[in-house]
Amino acid sequence: MKLKIDEAKCSGSGRCVEACPEKAIKIVGGKAVIDYDICDFDGICIPACPNGAIDFDE
Ligand code: SF4
Repeated sequence: MKLKIDEAKCSGSGRCVEACPEKAIKIVGGKAVIDYDICDFDGICIPACPNGAIDFDE
């Protein structure tokens, strides 16, 4: 299982960056990008996104 960010929904708000305890997310070119080498897939960033852009990729 992974997490995916829907680029069409991502507004680059950075809420997920603030929410991630592992500091696994960066805003690159106005869109959130997850570093999967750091992410531990806890899902904390999912409800942090005001646009519902992050979800588990089953
Ligand atoms: S799932 Fe957890 S560790 Fe991974 S990017 Fe989201 S908040 Fe960070």
